[in-house]
Order: sequence, then structure tokens, then C-alpha cells
Amino acid sequence: PKRGEDKLRSPICCIMGHVDTGKTKLLDCIRGTNVQEGEAGGITQQIGATYFPAVNIRERTRELKADAKLRVPGLLVIDTPGHESFTNLRSRGSGLCDIAILVVDIMHGLERQTIESLNLLKMRNTEFIVALNKVDRLSGWKTCKNKPIFKAMKQQSKDVQMEFNWRLTQIITQLKEQGLNTELYYKNKEMGETYNIVPTSAISGEGIPDLLLLLVKWTEKTLVEKLMFTNEVQCTVLEVKAIEGQGTTIDVVLVNGVLHEGDQIVVCGTQGPIVTTIRALLTPHPMKELRIKGSYLHHKELKAAQGVKINAQGLDHAVAGTGLYVVGPDDDVEDIKEATMQDMKSVMSRIDKSGTGVCVQASTLGSLEALLEFLKSPVVNIPVSGINIGPVHKSDVRRACAMLERNREYATILAFDVKVTPVARELAKESGVKIFTADIIYHLFDQFQKYMDNFKE
Ligand code: GDP
Ligand code: MG
Repeated sequence: PKRGEDKLRSPICCIMGHVDTGKTKLLDCIRGTNVQEGEAGGITQQIGATYFPAVNIRERTRELKADAKLRVPGLLVIDTPGHESFTNLRSRGSGLCDIAILVVDIMHGLERQTIESLNLLKMRNTEFIVALNKVDRLSGWKTCKNKPIFKAMKQQSKDVQMEFNWRLTQIITQLKEQGLNTELYYKNKEMGETYNIVPTSAISGEGIPDLLLLLVKWTEKTLVEKLMFTNEVQCTVLEVKAIEGQGTTIDVVLVNGVLHEGDQIVVCGTQGPIVTTIRALLTPHPMKELRIKGSYLHHKELKAAQGVKINAQGLDHAVAGTGLYVVGPDDDVEDIKEATMQDMKSVMSRIDKSGTGVCVQASTLGSLEALLEFLKSPVVNIPVSGINIGPVHKSDVRRACAMLERNREYATILAFDVKVTPVARELAKESGVKIFTADIIYHLFDQFQKYMDNFKE
């Protein structure tokens, strides 16, 4: 390897946007083409992510003749969660995502979750590229499979070009209303000040080379500051999962540093910090297509950036969306324990001290935080008396019962993207506690609002 190259880690990319804009399809498209042509090009499925090696990206941007030199080992794209709540990717401090692709449906423009995503990106100061997807739906679009967008656009009729320009202008205006300057990427002269828009089709692949090239260009620009490999572990818990025969495991994204089997780690738990030892570092088997159950590769050590499954004791109450820390030889465990719980504490401090309000439950700390922020906003303004992370259990219902005497309408659990255990549901029914469940924050609010309106009548 050339000097210095091994010092760079792979950048981490997230795909965000409103439901049905084509996030999953776009990822499939980037992943799929070469697989169909019989050359997987080293693309590997990871835990909660897909790894695209540099050679593959270079190959796919060749037609742009931009001589895309990718000096990082590859690109790690986080899989968009099925339930459409990207909020679990939110993580303060660790800066999980280096760059994002914000997908907008060219036929629909900005939608509710587009704006939600934009606000998250602004808050975290994350660089992003707008993929203006579904260009193939412009009436009369002539398919130019996997072509750079400039070439594809030249093949289109005057009418198609006119409709495209009209829709693009509208969307640029909408983004401007959100305080963002954007421009079609090949017309953008102020890269950095003005965000890039890349028209794409996740079905026929137009614009995909351009999207990849922009990601490459961006990495070159930020390489030194952001993507230097360090030995300090930077790691975020994405999901907490019970696996048959393995107990509770955590799926993490290792952003920087190296993890070893046997490392002592500390993670945030709902009942306090969890200090444990890595029993196994796992990645999916390359032959995962065969869906062999529980077929994972074991590793002695793994280097960033990667998606990894960690097996260790005592992870039952681990909180997704928080940082994972490794205890080094010179570290004080007590300091690290405190650092681990910092995120949790700041979220806890936001609940109403008067003790009157609804109970809120979410899948991750990030989504809980988003939900609390939402409930607190002036238009919504719903007080919260209790919070928890993970499935709704009997004990959560019991806590909500306390509200029955004080403020009956608040004897409610708003459960966001979590399961309710059958016993918990049973107890809720017996005691008169209402449980609302939803995968989208607004739906939860709408249900509760309806319930409150009925209550007042
Ligand atoms: P997600 O909810 O953002 O992950 O959206 P999906 O990837 O599941 O796509 C939603 C729907 O839009 C599916 O029926 C896709 O086939 C379709 N779709 C996605 N991308 C495109 C595109 O570029 N062109 C067209 N015509 N349809 C698309
Ligand atoms: Mg999807």
C-alpha cells in the first residue's frame, strides 16, 4: 500500500428521507448492478451496513472520466432501517455519520420526514447530497441505463427537459425556504456553500455514477480532518438484539479505532452503566445469501469502519443510540462509566418534575430524545412523567397506573417503535391504561390528540 493510505478509515454514509422516496431501492441499485453482472466487486453485507470497496466505486464512475481517486479503503453505507425511523442513527458525540444522502422524490418535493431529516442534518452539521430520485417518472423519460445524468438528460425530449427544470426549480425554492442553498451538481460553482443536487433513478440507474463520484470528491476534500484513522475507539450502538443461542447481542458501528476480543467495554444501560468483556466479535458470513441461521464469522480483532455484532454478558438493558467505550490500561473505569451515562442523564433531565404527564417509551435513546423534543414543542405541549427504552413491560404499565388517580387522561403510554408484551397489554386493559403504538412520531401524536379530544367531550 502507498504511504499513508492505511491511515485512512472508510467514511460512513447514511441515506435519509421521507418514506417511499426510494431509500432502500437506491441502496439496492448501488449494491445490485455489479452483482447481477456476476462481479460482486467485493461489496459485502455487514451488520446494519453495506461496505463498498474503493475499486468498485472507481469502476462505476469511470464513464464520468473524472479520474475518481478514492484514497479511502471504501465506503460504509448504513442500511436504512425498515421502520423508517432514522432517529436511531442519531448519536451525539460520536458523529456516526460522515456524510448523508437526502432522498427527495422529484414528483413530490419536500415532505414531512424530508424536513425532519434536514433539521437533524443541520443540527449535527453533517454534509449531505440531495438525490432527486425517480427522474424516470417524468412523463416521456427515455431510459439510459446507469448513465451519468448529464448524458441521460441530453437524450431527453424538450418536454421532458422542461418538466424536469420546472420541478427542479420548485424543489430548490422549497429547500431555500428551509434556509438551504442548493444547485444541480454540475452547475454548482460554490461547492461547500451550496449543497449539491443529483437527479437519480433507483430503477434504471441514471445518475448513480454521479452520486458515487460526489461521495468520492467529498471524501477527498475532508480526508485529512475527518477520516484519519486513530487508535481511539469511536463506536455507536445501533441495535440491541436477542439472538437464539447467543443471548442479547449489540449491533454496533465501529467508526474509528480497533476492537479486540477480550476488550473490557462500557455501554449505557437503562439501569445504569454496563461493564462487560467482549466475548465474540462477529460479522456476517460472506455466504449469507444462503441464509444459514446463526452463521457468523468470529474475529480476534476488527478495524474501523465496520458494522459489527458484539456478544458479551449482561447486555439485556443496553441502550441503542449511545456510545460504546473501551477501557484502556490507563483508564479509570469510574470515569468511563460516568461518560457512558451522560447522554442518558441529559435526556432524563428533560422530563417534568411535577410528576404529572404521560409515559413515553421508545426503541433507542435517539428516538426517545426526538419524541421528547416533539412533545415539548409549544404546539404539542404534552407533559411527560416517565420514560423508558425498549419493549413495554408490565412494570411500565404499573408506573402509568399511578396517573389514574391524578390525571386520568395521562394514564397513557406513547410507545414509539417498540413492542408491547402480551402481559403488559393484558394489565393495561384491566387497569384502564391506554397504550398507543406507532412507528412514526406524528402518528402517535395524532392518536393521542384524538383520544384527548374525546376525553374532553
Ligand atoms: P423507501 O421507503 O424510501 O425505502 O422507498 P423504497 O425504496 O421502498 O421505494 C418505494 C417505492 O418507490 C417502491 O415501489 C420502489 O420500487 C419505488 N421507487 C424507488 N425508487 C424509484 C425510482 O427511481 N423510480 C421509480 N419509478 N420508482 C422508484
Ligand atoms: Mg426503505
